[in-house]
Amino acid sequence: MTEQRVAIVTGASRGIGRAVALRLASEGRHVVCVSRSQGPLDELVSEIQAAGGSASALTCDITDFDAITSMIDTVVNDQGRLDILVNNAGITKDNLILRMSDEEWDDVINTNLKSVFVACRAAARPMMKNKFGRIVNIASTSGLVGNSGQSNYAAAKSGLTGFTKTVARELGKKNITANCVAPGFIETDMTKDLPAAVTEHIKSVISTRDLGKPEDIAAAVAYVTSDDAGYLTGQTIAVDGGMTMC
Ligand code: NDP
Repeated sequence: MTEQRVAIVTGASRGIGRAVALRLASEGRHVVCVSRSQGPLDELVSEIQAAGGSASALTCDITDFDAITSMIDTVVNDQGRLDILVNNAGITKDNLILRMSDEEWDDVINTNLKSVFVACRAAARPMMKNKFGRIVNIASTSGLVGNSGQSNYAAAKSGLTGFTKTVARELGKKNITANCVAPGFIETDMTKDLPAAVTEHIKSVISTRDLGKPEDIAAAVAYVTSDDAGYLTGQTIAVDGGMTMC
């Protein structure tokens, strides 16, 4: 029998990352739940353990790039392996291009793109040693088709898709896959403050006519990180209710 696979999920304190952590734990992974907030992570670990799963928590600010590398080293030292890396943590700092500050640009690029490069670089060696790896980077449909007010975010998320294809090409022969899952509009803290008129408009252009749930994204991540998905790499899977179809 395969030993228990060890997964890191960043941004696990709420929203999509929390749902991904719960789903991977329910499928028998040991899940290392990562974010900046200890309290919600501890609650999540307790919930997973109460359901018979296995999890631990590590705090890490992914804008501190040295801290990302240390976090991954800690996981490999503590758990003895790293099989699955889900780079999910992300932020928005929206503004129209005319008004976007350098700081808004840099914060979003560093959090949503550079952190993923640093994490993948740190994870590559232990995964190569392991002769197995599943990397999933959470992109966005904004990176596929653009979105007014999100030039920083769309650039970061679009950057992830090209970056991920390159990781897939470089590491494929080591039995490591790298894919993006690109959510459409999902009901989380990130989208809860949208004006009602905007939400209604968004629903009208989604084929299924509704926002998605974090569990919809978790289901896709569960497949992409499974042992069965070894021949799926370099892809960006849009989970968006048929909003973009590209
Ligand atoms: P939320 O805002 O609900 O959660 C964001 C998560 O990221 C939190 O767990 C937060 O943890 C963590 N995080 C943010 N900044 C940092 C940081 N510097 N260091 C460590 N952790 C951090 O977002 P969602 O769940 O909605 O989004 C998750 C991912 O999905 C993001 O990458 C987002 O861009 C993407 N996405 C979401 C969509 C949506 O409609 N919701 C659509 C398309 C993509 P904490 O604050 O505790 O540190």
